[in-house]
Formats: sequence, structure tokens, C-alpha cells
Amino acid sequence: MGARHDDTTGLVTAPSAALLDAVVDRVGRPDFRKFEAQLRSSGFCEKPVLLAGRIEVCDGGDTRHAVWSTDGEPDQVLRKACGNRREAVCKPCSERYRGDAWQLIAAGLRGGKGIPESVAGHPTLFVSLTAPSFGVVHSQRRTTKGEPGRCRPRRGNECCPHGVPLGCSKRHEPDDPCLGEPLCRECFDYRGAVLWNNVMSELWRRTMIYLPRELAAILGWTQKRLHEEVRVSYIKVAEYQARGLVHVHALIRLDRRMPAYRADEVHAPGRRFTADLLEEALRAAADNVSAPTPEQLGGPPARWGEQLDVQRLDGNAEERGRRASYLAKYSTKGTEQAGGLPYRVRRDGLDRLPVRDHVRDLVAQAFDLADEDTEGTRRLGACAHMFGYRGHCLSKSRRWSTTFKALREAREQHVREQLGKHGADAAQRALAEIEPEDRVGTFAFVGRGHLTSADAYLAAQAAASARERREAGREARYDHHNRGGRTRWQQTPHEVMVA
Ligand SMILES: [Zn+2]
Ligand SMILES: [Zn+2]
Ligand SMILES: [Zn+2]
Repeated sequence: MGARHDDTTGLVTAPSAALLDAVVDRVGRPDFRKFEAQLRSSGFCEKPVLLAGRIEVCDGGDTRHAVWSTDGEPDQVLRKACGNRREAVCKPCSERYRGDAWQLIAAGLRGGKGIPESVAGHPTLFVSLTAPSFGVVHSQRRTTKGEPGRCRPRRGNECCPHGVPLGCSKRHEPDDPCLGEPLCRECFDYRGAVLWNNVMSELWRRTMIYLPRELAAILGWTQKRLHEEVRVSYIKVAEYQARGLVHVHALIRLDRRMPAYRADEVHAPGRRFTADLLEEALRAAADNVSAPTPEQLGGPPARWGEQLDVQRLDGNAEERGRRASYLAKYSTKGTEQAGGLPYRVRRDGLDRLPVRDHVRDLVAQAFDLADEDTEGTRRLGACAHMFGYRGHCLSKSRRWSTTFKALREAREQHVREQLGKHGADAAQRALAEIEPEDRVGTFAFVGRGHLTSADAYLAAQAAASARERREAGREARYDHHNRGGRTRWQQTPHEVMVA
């Protein structure tokens, strides 16, 4: 026995006899096909939202008639995807999110989704901006030869005021749990770290305001003239470092400024706008920008740390696809990267959380700051589990490429077309033929998660085989293109997911 669906991890181990019986029971039910269809349309979500209700259409006048109701569905509910982006919460939904993120990022790098392929010729930078130091932490170092180096070699046995040695002569492995841990927790500036996370989004916003100013300064132009010539587009992902501080990976691109009525168009900027120029301006902006911490706290303004990595992208489509994958991967992570938790926590439960002490201290610090109850810190308790960070994981300027909403709508449209053509269920087919704007849906929330372990098991199995099919499809496409002498990232990972 002992094999079951584990609600805390979502893992499925070999099924027990009792679970198998329940699975056989579910599969044997006359409405199993409908159940299967619901799993598919919810993207095999691990914790679907359960709804009860109906869909009606207007008859013309004031009357409506019901065309579909959950009364005719398995267990009288509709299962909708939870839609969570984080891998630690729901793997299938996070995979779909990552696919969409990849589409968004890649379209702005090499075209597609309404963006011309010529975008690959625009000056584009891949940049990583980090937080400054808030205390010495254990880290993995490389020697100049690229070999694993000592964490923090020191001569002598100097100690901090708390009696902790200031050096660490170990060569840490990549999975060493001490990575990111302060050498001395008493010395680490938790307050500074949490406040920095809290104002990071503002620091980024200001950096993007400084950037065109620096461009104008280098060219000796007025800001007005620069504004008339170019616009800055970007997409950025926030990632947690092991020490619990957020850092930013971003793609920054220069486009020609278009008049308002053609603002949707993306064209290359004038020839004088090179990647060199963009890099020079970005470095100057990152050096000069700062963001105020909440006034009442009187702390120093937040600035970027010294580690600034800037890479210029050339027009290679494959390389650009790889950059997109790299960013998309981080868009499904949260504080779990730093040993944190993917959900909100309460202060009174802090002691019992299964996290390391460094993480507990970061969360506790956010609650302490919230207690100070000043204008700027009041809401810190709500993002304590994010170590104070309150921004979105992925954000972009309006003109980078398409939107999540547009991608979702295109997918829903596709599903509707497929159902209309091939749907096995007459009611579903009829429903698919009604335009979304003609429908009136009335639904009530009845629960969250699968009703039984057997349902969860079936969803996980179906998710796994859908994943295998996708991967096999991707390999086949890759082979096909290699044989033709071309190596191209042709299709996106998740276009076929729900269909
Ligand atoms: Zn989900
Ligand atoms: Zn160390
Ligand atoms: Zn100390």
C-alpha cells in the first residue's frame, strides 16, 4: 500500500489496490468521456477550480434559454484550470504559462505573432541587474581557470562582532544547502534586503526612464528630439537569488518611434542607434538611477548592485530562441528558488514553516516592517512570502510583442473550432458554435482540487502523456528541420496543448 496522490507535492507514485479500484470505477462510469474532456479542456490541471452553473443565449427579446448546464456533466461540476504560473503549485498550468511566456519573449526577439522578422536586426541587449550586498553569504565561486574556487578565503582567523569567522575556505557544490546563507545571520542586513526587494520594481521603472535620457545625453540631443526618433521596448523577468534577493533578467530593444496611428508597427531605428550606444546608455542609467525607500524609514535610496551583465544579441534566430527559453523558464519560479514558499503565510505560523532560518528571518523582517505601519510598509505583510517583493514576475513594455490575453484568446478560439468540428458531445459542439459574446454564463464556485485521489491520478497520468506527445512532436520537428539543412526553432512548445 502507501501509493497514492500526495496533495502536498502533487507527485503520483505507483497506485495502490484501493486507488486502482477507484480508477476502474471512474473509467467505467457512462460519463467518463465527458470527464476526460473536462480534464483536457482544463489542461490536466492539478488543482482545478470546480464550478456549477449554466450557459444561456439570448432569444432576441428579453428571454434567454439555457444551452448548456453542469447538471449534465460528471459530478455536476465544470473543472476549470487553476491557471497558476508557478511550477511548485501546478505543473501543467505552469507549463502552459511558460509556453505563452516563451511566445511573448520570442516574438519580440525574432518576429511572429504580428511582429515582423526584421525585429531580429534591432539593437537588442540581454541584461542582468542585481541587488547590492546586504552581508556576506556562502557562494559558489570559480577561479580564473574556471575551476571550483574557495567560498571566501581569508588569512588569519578574524571574526565578526558575534564571534563568527569572516572567512569560509570550502569549495561549495552547486547543491550545497548553505549557498546563499549569510556567514553570520546577526550581521546580515535583513531590513535593508527586504526593503530593497520592496522597491525593486520602482528602481526598474526609473531605470527605463533614465535610459532614453542617457541616450540623448550621449548623442548631444534634447530629450524631445530623442523621443521623436526612438522608443525603448523591454521584457523582464524577476528571479530570486539563493540569498533571497530579487534580480532582473531583461531584454531591451530599440525601435523607431511611430506616429500614434501606426504605433502598433515595429520598425528598426535609425542607423546611429547601435547596440554599442544602447549598452553605453544602459550602463550609465544603471549607475545613476536610484529609488527612494519609504520616507519614514529614512534608509538610503535603493540602487543596483555592482554586478551588471550586458550581452548584445546578434541576429541569430536560434540563439534568440535560447534566450527566450531561458527567460521563460524563470517566469514559472518564485521564492522556492531561494528555499521559500509559493503561497502566502501568516505571521503566527512562521515558526512551523518548513524553511531554513535565513528564509524565516526574511519573512519575519517583512512582517516587522509591516508593523511599523508607515505609508510605504503597510502592505509588506501581504508579500512577506515574497521576501518583500511585490512586483510581477514577468512584465513588459506595451510594444514588446503580443499579450498573454491575445495568446489565450487565440487558443480558446482554436479549441472552439476543434470542438465544433470534431467534438464527440453534441451539447459541446452546439456550444462551440455560439460566439463567446452571445453567451451568458452564470457560475458559482463550489470547490478547488480534484474530488478524489483517483481523479487526481487520472489527471496526472493524462498530463504526463500529453507532455510526452509534445516532446516527441518537438523532436520530430527538430529532426525534420535538421535534415533539411536548417536548424530552426519552428514551433512553440505549447501550441498544441489544449486542442
Ligand atoms: Zn492548474
Ligand atoms: Zn562558504
Ligand atoms: Zn556577526
